[in-house]
Amino acid sequence: MKILVVEDSRSNLHLPIQHVEKFGATTLSARSGEEALEKYARTRPDLVLLDVVLPDMDGFLVAQRIRAMEGPGEWTPIIFLSAESDESSIENGITAGGDDYLLKPVSEIVLGAKIRAMQHIVLMRSSLIALTRKLDAANQELVRISSSDALTGVANRRFFDEAISIEWRRARRHSNSIAMMMCDIDYFKLYNDTYGNQAGDECLRKVAKAIRQHTERPSDIVARYGGEEFAVVLPETTISGALMVAEKIRNAIRELNIQHASSPGGTVTLSIGLASAAPGFDNPPDDLIQAASKALLHAKHGGRDRICRADET
Ligand code: GH3
Ligand code: MG
Ligand code: MG
Ligand code: MG
Repeated sequence: MKILVVEDSRSNLHLPIQHVEKFGATTLSARSGEEALEKYARTRPDLVLLDVVLPDMDGFLVAQRIRAMEGPGEWTPIIFLSAESDESSIENGITAGGDDYLLKPVSEIVLGAKIRAMQHIVLMRSSLIALTRKLDAANQELVRISSSDALTGVANRRFFDEAISIEWRRARRHSNSIAMMMCDIDYFKLYNDTYGNQAGDECLRKVAKAIRQHTERPSDIVARYGGEEFAVVLPETTISGALMVAEKIRNAIRELNIQHASSPGGTVTLSIGLASAAPGFDNPPDDLIQAASKALLHAKHGGRDRICRADET
């Protein structure tokens, strides 16, 4: 433990230093307010014993300046050592940011006990801080788990519903258009029937990964919308921009080359419905979702493994 003893009188300095060193702590001393602040800034002691009457400024001001130097969440215990025993002096000391106030000459036993008490508080405080950090991390993990789909790792429906309304309002504020696509694996029931549910799950994971890999902007949202249906939100994107993304995704799924004997092309394919909108006050995001779903249906009826735009249906 490193203790800074601030005392202008050489004879008064001797006693607390002796006590503190007996206690097993290292001492640093300062003879004025300026020196105290400079040493505090440079060495960041674990505790400050602070005289009230100093030649250049009073100890209360030193305490205030120390508090101002501490970063967020930092705290150094400050104990005033003073010859002034009046109540207002004690009050001023605590108001200035002191943690205790002892009268000079200070007894070795009392000083030792006070230092130990401060040490307890410091220890308790650091374990509380560590606990808070753990709680923060656990909370973040909870948020992640509650917003992602356990099978594929992409966002889940709950997250999608929240995210699209946030993006919708953002796009409205900035007068941007927002695009979305609804993707659905073709003949997936047959895939499960042929290869089993586990293979079906594996296929879903691969498709989700490919979709995610081809939606590159940090603001793009990929979510598992339903069983084998994925929704992709592309903020600040026009329908022609979205079409390019959709082409990449459709090709990527074909290139995965997942065997599907009951599918016309022999591999797993994806149908995509595309829509875009300029959010206003009278059109809810549901309209965009519906338009994309309708376009998806067109893609299915048109023969699957294709992209359909809502504005062309
Ligand atoms: P379409 O080409 O018209 O989309 O036909 P489809 O067979 O893909 O569509 P349908 O909606 O009839 O079937 C969806 C199937 O997706 C039903 C179910 O077997 C499968 N499925 C849904 N969720 C999961 C899942 O989490 N794991 C697995 N393995 N299969 C799933
Ligand atoms: Mg003094
Ligand atoms: Mg399907
Ligand atoms: Mg479906």
